[in-house]
Amino acid sequence: MAHVVILGAGTGGMPAAYEMKHALGAGHEVTLISTNDYFQFVPSNPWLGVGWSKREDITFPIRPYVERRGIKFIAKNAEKIDAEAQTITLADGSSVHYDYLMIATGPRLAFELVPGSDPHEGPVQSVCTTDHAELAYGKYQELLENPGPIVIGAMAGASCFGPAYEYAMIVASDLKKRGMRDKVPSFSFVTSEPYIGHLGISGVGDSTGILTKGLEEEGIKAYTNCKVSKVENGEMFITQVNDKGETVKEFTLPVKFGMMIPAFRGIPAVANVEGLCNPGGFVIVDDNQRSKKYSNIYAVGIAIAIPPVEATPVPTGAPKTGYMIESMVSASVYNIKADIEGRVGDKTMGTWNAVCFADMGDRGAAFVALPQIKPRKVDIFAYGRWVHLAKVAFEKYFIRKMKMGVSEPFYERVLFKMMGITRLKEETEVEQRKAS
Ligand SMILES: Cc1cc2nc3c(=O)[nH]c(=O)nc-3n(C[C@H](O)[C@H](O)[C@H](O)COP(=O)(O)OP(=O)(O)OC[C@H]3O[C@@H](n4cnc5c(N)ncnc54)[C@H](O)[C@@H]3O)c2cc1C
Repeated sequence: MAHVVILGAGTGGMPAAYEMKHALGAGHEVTLISTNDYFQFVPSNPWLGVGWSKREDITFPIRPYVERRGIKFIAKNAEKIDAEAQTITLADGSSVHYDYLMIATGPRLAFELVPGSDPHEGPVQSVCTTDHAELAYGKYQELLENPGPIVIGAMAGASCFGPAYEYAMIVASDLKKRGMRDKVPSFSFVTSEPYIGHLGISGVGDSTGILTKGLEEEGIKAYTNCKVSKVENGEMFITQVNDKGETVKEFTLPVKFGMMIPAFRGIPAVANVEGLCNPGGFVIVDDNQRSKKYSNIYAVGIAIAIPPVEATPVPTGAPKTGYMIESMVSASVYNIKADIEGRVGDKTMGTWNAVCFADMGDRGAAFVALPQIKPRKVDIFAYGRWVHLAKVAFEKYFIRKMKMGVSEPFYERVLFKMMGITRLKEETEVEQRKAS
């Protein structure tokens, strides 16, 4: 009997536990280990950050749902992985032995790269976790009581730009609803992207035109090619560079309330494993989601190393979005099962297509970039009220799916069909990824 441990119970890890157990059946053991005993639906955190959602709407306890499916659950932080001994040491000093490990630990938020940017230290908030989004909402309420300048955007090295645009548009929309938009003296969008709508993937469809217009319509002034060096005494210190990376301007923006997506790094327990990760602490995997160094370690989601789509004057990374993560999970499950069953050479790959739905207030933007690197077979950036409604429905669907113990991405496939994307056969996508 093999023991498969899934580390991290987020967007990748929780579906992975279900899919792994479903694939292996009762003959093998699956254990899910995660720091918190609750699941959080990360894509809805921006709504929590303006009070449009509540914590109880987007979180739920993990244990009763996974245990019902025969999965063991341990709610403890992993402190150390000994890849040679195949053990994980947990926060209470106990250890868990594994035959196969799937790492799904998401990002460590690297606030230390920009002094003063930690949400607990100053005006710049984060919506990357539910705890942070709640904290952001508290600070947002203070802003409503005593309005001041707003800065939203993404730091140098960030890879997840969608939520930055999303939160800027949601805040603008919320201020309008409250009749308070004109009370805010300035509203800026500061980003490390070389141009608006780059999104870490060299743009997609007319992302630049649509997002530029969207920001303009909300009276949000955009600054691109920017590196924030620190946040101090209510000022954000910014260096703006040209296309060659040469400094063209150093300036400060006042900030009473801000939200900047930080650069991500791998979590310490993973980053510290000898030979497992790149310098950023992300697991180096082969085409089959398997560690290049340890043949019984697989990794999915934000925890894996993916090179940037292109070099940008201020460093940016490639996003790892939900549908792509689900495809990594399916590939890992398939490959682990094949390995356990001794089917040598029977392997599959994830599709790694960039698909994202971002809410923009009463509207939304959806993009599909297939493959991530141009030239693409599918290159769509759609905008409209239907995306907002689709994102609302997606939250309900995904949470329900996680409670029911199902991991098949049915809803995403329906949306793809609605967007006219029919070339979804796995072989086609794998072929495209190989070509890129
Ligand atoms: C604000 C925001 C909005 C986003 N919106 C979208 C969207 O709309 N659509 C989309 O496709 N993508 C979106 N993404 C991108 C991506 O889909 C999410 O970030 C997704 O949650 C990543 O999944 P993951 O499983 O890699 O990591 P996570 O979901 O972050 O899960 C990581 C898990 O590992 C656990 N963990 C971490 N360290 C340890 C440890 N030491 N021991 C044990 N457990 C540990 C964590 O507690 C967590 O449960 C968004 C990202 C952000 C930040």
